[in-house]
Amino acid sequence: MGDVVLVPMFAADTPLVSRVLPSPNTRERKAGERLEFLIIHGTWMAGDDGALQRLCDPVAEVSCHYYITREGQILQLVPERLVAFHAGVSKAVNSEGVEIHGLNNWSLGIEVANCGPFLDGPPSLEQETLVGWTRAEPYTEAQYVALKALVADILARNPHICVERVLGHNEVAPDRKSDPGMHFDWSWLRS
Ligand SMILES: [Zn+2]
Repeated sequence: MGDVVLVPMFAADTPLVSRVLPSPNTRERKAGERLEFLIIHGTWMAGDDGALQRLCDPVAEVSCHYYITREGQILQLVPERLVAFHAGVSKAVNSEGVEIHGLNNWSLGIEVANCGPFLDGPPSLEQETLVGWTRAEPYTEAQYVALKALVADILARNPHICVERVLGHNEVAPDRKSDPGMHFDWSWLRS
């Protein structure tokens, strides 16, 4: 655990958020960087408390804009105007056909609470991409309902993010990340 850092409260970007829990792991967006991507994650952690603690720990240096609990509750940890640290080493092609490296600066990140196939605890780096999906924890109906509403809301307010650039973490960091996983159902996105 790192030192306790006092982070200013902020107003949620959407009324869909039921609780704001400010994370210190953030920075300003730089000139020339704009929101074009929305990255979906699975937490690969069992409980909300541990996951949220990690996402607010300055030593861990990870964060996300939104977090969806198994009950479908939406929390916001970082305001959309700031960068959150969720994508890491990653790449994808932007609206102008340019390959962007380090997608944090260009994206919003949503963490969806789920163990994936790692029911015994978070995976090591080696385990991350070598897994059997048959025993993965199912995402809940409440999470898909919350996700669909949140993504529609984000896309309506952010004209440079389009459905084609709503991507899984595994799609932008394929040799490193497996979330949100083979068991994540994407059909809500286009229905
Ligand atoms: Zn991820």
